[in-house]
Amino acid sequence: MTYKTDHNFALQLDQEDSLSRFRESFHIPKHKDGTDSIYLCGNSLGLQPRQTKDFLNKELEDWANLGVEGHFHAKHPWMPYHEFLTETTAQIVGAKPHEVVIMNTLTTNLHLMMVSFYQPKGNRTKILIEGDAFPSDRYAVASQIKFHGGDPETDLITWQPRPSDHTPSFEDLEVILKNQGDEIALVMIGAVNYYTGQLFELKKIADLCHSYGIMVGYDCAHGAGNVDLQLHDSGADFAVWCTYKYMNAGPGSLGGCFVHERHADNADLPRFTGWWGHNKDTRFKMRDDFEPMRGAEGWQLSNPPILSMVAIRASLDLFAQAGFENLREKSIKMTNYLEFLLQELDGDRISIITPSDSKDRGCQLSLAVKNADRSLFDAITAKGVIADWREPDVIRIAPVPLYNNFEDCWRFVDVLKSEL
Ligand SMILES: *Cc1c(COP(=O)(O)O)cnc(C)c1O
Repeated sequence: MTYKTDHNFALQLDQEDSLSRFRESFHIPKHKDGTDSIYLCGNSLGLQPRQTKDFLNKELEDWANLGVEGHFHAKHPWMPYHEFLTETTAQIVGAKPHEVVIMNTLTTNLHLMMVSFYQPKGNRTKILIEGDAFPSDRYAVASQIKFHGGDPETDLITWQPRPSDHTPSFEDLEVILKNQGDEIALVMIGAVNYYTGQLFELKKIADLCHSYGIMVGYDCAHGAGNVDLQLHDSGADFAVWCTYKYMNAGPGSLGGCFVHERHADNADLPRFTGWWGHNKDTRFKMRDDFEPMRGAEGWQLSNPPILSMVAIRASLDLFAQAGFENLREKSIKMTNYLEFLLQELDGDRISIITPSDSKDRGCQLSLAVKNADRSLFDAITAKGVIADWREPDVIRIAPVPLYNNFEDCWRFVDVLKSEL
C-alpha cells in the first residue's frame, strides 16, 4: 500500500485497524506531561496487560483460602498449571503441544538443551553462533565448551556479516559448513537477532546443518510473539525463549522451551533431570528410577512458580483473542509504515540496518544515526520516547501490534525530526 507522511494518515490507519481495541487492554506508561509515552521498547520489556493484576489476585486468593489444597482444588489447579499455557504457546511458536513447555528462564533452558544437544565427540567439537549474538548466549555456549574440556578460542566460531553488510548471509554459512561442517557439533542462532532485528531463514539453516549431521538450536527471545517461527516445520532440534519481551509476562518471567518431536521419546539423550520431568502418573510414588515425560515436558526440573505463570496466562489470553496471524499482519504493516516515515525523514543520516524485506524481520527496526551520540537518544527520551540505545549509534525501536498504534510511529518520527 502507499503511505503518506501526514498525521491524519496515521489516525486513519488506526481507525481502520481491527486490532486497535487491544491497546486499551494494556497499561501504557505515562510521560511526565501526562500523555501516553511513545513506548517502542516491547522488544526489551513488554507492557503489562490490565488483566494481569486480576489474574494474580485470584491466584493469591486461592492460595489464601486453600493452602496446599490449591494444588488440586484451585480454580486453575497448580499441579498441572503449566499445561494451561501449552496450547496457545504452541500456536504462537508454530509447534505441536508436546514439543513446548514453559519452565525456568531462558539462559537456564539454553544450558539444559545444550546438555542434551551439544555432545562433542572426536573431531566434532565446535559450536557456531551468529556474529553479534546476545552476550548471555555467547557466555553460555563458551562455558559449555569449557565444561566439556574444550577451548572457546578454537571451538566457538562465529558467522559474521561481510565488511560491507550488517547482517550475515546464508551463502557465507554454506562456505563455513563446507570447510568445517564435520567439526561443528551445534549451530545455535538467535532466530531474530537482538541487535539488527534480522529474522533468519530457520528451515533453510536447519536443513543445511542437518545435511552435515549438525544439531540446531534457536534462541527465540526476540522471535516468540513477534514473528511466525514455525518451529516444528523449521526442523530445529530445540529452541528457547523468554516471555517478558514480546510475550508481555513481566520482568524476569519464565522461559519457554521447544524440543522437536523427533526427540520426544528418546530417553537415552543425556539430560539433567528433576522430579517435574518424571512421568506424572508415578511422580508422587517417589520411585528411584527416572522415567521422563514424553516431549519437552520431560526436561522440567522443579514444580514451577505459579505466580509467574499466572502472568503468562493473562498475556496468552490476549494473544488467543487477537489471533497471532492477525497480529503478524498488523505488525508487518506498522513496521513498513515506520520504515517509510524514516526514509522520508532523512535518508542521509539515518540508515536502517534491519533487513528491508518483511520476511527477513519482525517488528523491530534498528537505526544507525550518522554523527549521533547518546545525547540524541537522551533528547528524544525527554520528549516521551521509550526506546533502546546501543553504542555506538544504534536506536532500536519496536512497534508491537498488540498495544502500539500507527500514531506512535508517527509521533516517534516527529520527535526524532525535531531533534536531528
Ligand atoms: C533477552 C535475551 C536473553 C536474556 O536471557 P535471560 O536468561 O532471560 O536473562 C538471552 N538471549 C537473547 C538472545 C535475548 O534476547
